[in-house]
Amino acid sequence: MQKGTIGVTTDNIFPVIKKFLYSDHEIFLRELVSNAVDATQKLQTLARSGALKEDLGDLTIHVNVDKDKGTLTISDRGIGMTEEEVQKYINQIALSGATDFLDKYKDQAANIIGHFGLGFYSAFMVSKRVELVTCSWKEGAKAVKWSCDGTPAFEITDADKADRGTDVILYIDDDCKEFLEKYRVLELLRKYCHFLPVPIACGKKTEWKDGKEQETVEDNIINDTHPLWTRKPTELKDEDYKKFYRELYPEFDEPLFWIHLNVDYPFKLTGVLYFPKIKNTVELQKNKIQLYCNQVFVTDQVDNIVPEFLTLLHGVIDSPDIPLNVSRSYLQSDANVKKISKYITKKVSDRLESIFKENRKDFEAKWDDLKLFINYGLLSDPDFYEKAKGYVLLKDVDGKYFTYDEYRNLIKDNQTDKEKTLVYLYATDRDEQYTYIHAAQEKGYSVLLMDGQLDPALISMLEQKLEKCRWSRVDGDIAERLIPKEDSKLNTLAKEQSELLASIFSTQMPKVTGGEFHVEAQAQGEKAQPLTITQSEYMRRMKDLSKIQQGMSFYGQMPNMYNVVLNSDHPLIKSILDDGTKATAEALKPIDAELKGLHARQSVLRDQENKKKPEEVTQEEKDELSKCDKDISSEQQKRTDVIAGYAKGNDKVHQLIDLALLQNGLLRGEALVKFIQRSVDLIK
Ligand code: ADP
Repeated sequence: MQKGTIGVTTDNIFPVIKKFLYSDHEIFLRELVSNAVDATQKLQTLARSGALKEDLGDLTIHVNVDKDKGTLTISDRGIGMTEEEVQKYINQIALSGATDFLDKYKDQAANIIGHFGLGFYSAFMVSKRVELVTCSWKEGAKAVKWSCDGTPAFEITDADKADRGTDVILYIDDDCKEFLEKYRVLELLRKYCHFLPVPIACGKKTEWKDGKEQETVEDNIINDTHPLWTRKPTELKDEDYKKFYRELYPEFDEPLFWIHLNVDYPFKLTGVLYFPKIKNTVELQKNKIQLYCNQVFVTDQVDNIVPEFLTLLHGVIDSPDIPLNVSRSYLQSDANVKKISKYITKKVSDRLESIFKENRKDFEAKWDDLKLFINYGLLSDPDFYEKAKGYVLLKDVDGKYFTYDEYRNLIKDNQTDKEKTLVYLYATDRDEQYTYIHAAQEKGYSVLLMDGQLDPALISMLEQKLEKCRWSRVDGDIAERLIPKEDSKLNTLAKEQSELLASIFSTQMPKVTGGEFHVEAQAQGEKAQPLTITQSEYMRRMKDLSKIQQGMSFYGQMPNMYNVVLNSDHPLIKSILDDGTKATAEALKPIDAELKGLHARQSVLRDQENKKKPEEVTQEEKDELSKCDKDISSEQQKRTDVIAGYAKGNDKVHQLIDLALLQNGLLRGEALVKFIQRSVDLIK
C-alpha cells in the first residue's frame, strides 16, 4: 500500500471545488463519462494502429446507481491505467500558483476545471469519497485501486480486477442524494451524453409484463452514437433531417429548411441549423441551439458564439475549437469564436441566397415565416444586412414580392416627389386602411404591406440605408399630397370660404379621448372622398416606435393628431358651403362688421404702443388694448356660435364626419348610436 498527498500546492482544493462549483455541479457526470469515452476511443485507435491485437469486445460504458451502498459507478472498458499512470494523471494536478488562481477566479469555477484538466476531480463536488479501480490494456498490467476521501490524502492499493478498463465509484455525499435517483441520472445522461460516440448504458431496458414494469436483460442504451450532424450530407434524406429535428424539438412545427455545417479549416465545426417557422415575436425563442464538443453537450447558451439574431435558429453546433469551460466574456473575445460566428452568419446568408436564386417561388412561399428572423438580422447585424440586401423581400398589399432593387425600379418614375425623394407608401393593415390604399392605387401608386412587429424599426432603418427616400403610411395624408409632385394649387377657395367650411365641420367634431382634430379644406378633384381623416406620419411613427423602444414614452402620451381634410371639389362639400354661406350670411354680417372695426382699432393701438418704450405706456393705454382684444375674442366666439348653430342642424355634415370617423375606427359609444339612428332616419 502507498500513501501520499496529491500534488496541489494549495492545502486543500476540495472545499474550493465543492463550494465554487456548486452551481453547475451536475457536470461531474459529463466529465467522468467523457473520460470513459476518451479511454475507449484511445483503445480503438490502438486497435486500428495494430498495437493492440486482441478482440476489443463490448465497449459499452455502464453508469449504475446502487442506492443501498450509496454509490454511483461509471465503468468503461477503455485503455485503463497502470499504477504509474494513476500517479501521473490523477495525483499530479499541475496547479502552479493555484492559490492565486483560485482567488482570482472564485466566481468562475468552471474555468478552473477547464484550464487545469480537473475533469476527474469534479467527482468531489458530489462525493465524500471517490474510488478508481483500473487495469491497463498493457500486457501483464496489474490492477490498482486509488481512493481518496476529499482531503489531499490518497491511497493506492492493489486491486482485483481482471478485465481491462476503469471503474470510477462515487460515494455520493449526503447533500447530493439526488444523484442516487435513477431518473435524475438518466436526465443528466440525456442532457450531456445523448450523442456521445460510444454506447452508454444506464440500467436495463424495462417492459410491461404481467401488469407491471419489469427489467429485461437488455442494456438500456441512452445515446445515439452516430447523430445526424456527424454523417455525410450526401447520405441523408430530407426525412432524416426532419426526424432529427422532431427528436430535438418535439414541441415545434416542421422547420422551413436547414443547413448542414461542415468545416475543417481554419477551425473544426460540424452541425445542423434549422430555420423554424416564426410568425410573431411572442414565439421568439432564443437558446434553442445546442453546443457540443466532440458530441459532448456543453451548453444551450450560444449567445456569445453566434450573432444574436441567429440564436433564433434551432439545431446543433459541434466544435472542439470552442473553449468549453470558460466564462462568457472570455468567449466573446476568443478569436476562434469570432471566426465561427462570422462563418455561421455567412453560411446562413449563403443558404438563403441560394434558395432565393434557385427557387424564388419557394423562397417567396416561405418569406412570411422567415421574415421576422431575417428582419431581426437586418436590424441587429450590419454585416448580415450587407450580405442579405440583395435577396430580402418587400411585399405589396396585393401579395407580390420584390427585392429592394426591383421595388425601387418599380416605383421610381411615379413616386418621386418634387424634391427628388423617392416615396415608399405602405399600409400596416390592409382592411383598416383599405380606402387609403385604394385612393393611392387610383393614382397609380404601389403600396407595401408592412404589418410585422419589427417593421416600424425596419422602416426607420431603410430610410437611412436606401438611396434618398422617405416612407409614408398611406393614411399619412390625402392621396393628392402623399407625393407632392410640383407646387400644385390645391386650394381654389377664397380664404373666407375656406374658413367658413372648416368652421362648419370643426365645430361639429366630437370629443375623442386622446385625439385632436385639425380641419382644413383642399381641392382634390371630384372623384376623391368628400372628407378624409389622416394622421401625420411623423407623430404616428413616433408613437408606434414608443411601443417597441424604451425611452420614448413621451410620444406615447401625446394625443393623436388627426387632419380632417375636406375636398372642396366634391359636390356634397360644395353644396354644404353654399348652403352654409347663405344660411349664416345675415347673422354674420353685423359680427363681421364689428370685427372689422375692432381689428382696425387693435392695430392702431398696437402701433401706438410699439412706438413707445415699455415704461412710457400708460395704464389707460394698456387697458384699452386689452379690452379691444377681449372684444375681438368675444365677437369671434359669437361668430363660431352662429356657424355652430347652423352646422348643428345639418345632418349632411354629421353624416360625413361620422362616416370618416367610422372608417378610422374612431366612432364609438353614444356617437355610434346617434349615427345609426340618423342613418336609419335618412333612409326612411
Ligand atoms: P482531462 O480529461 O482533461 O485530461 P481529467 O482530470 O479528467 O483531465 O483526467 C486526467 C487524466 O486521467 C486523463 O487525461 C486520462 O489520462 C486519465 N483518465 C481519467 N479517467 C480515465 C479513464 N476512465 N480511463 C483511463 N484514463 C483516465
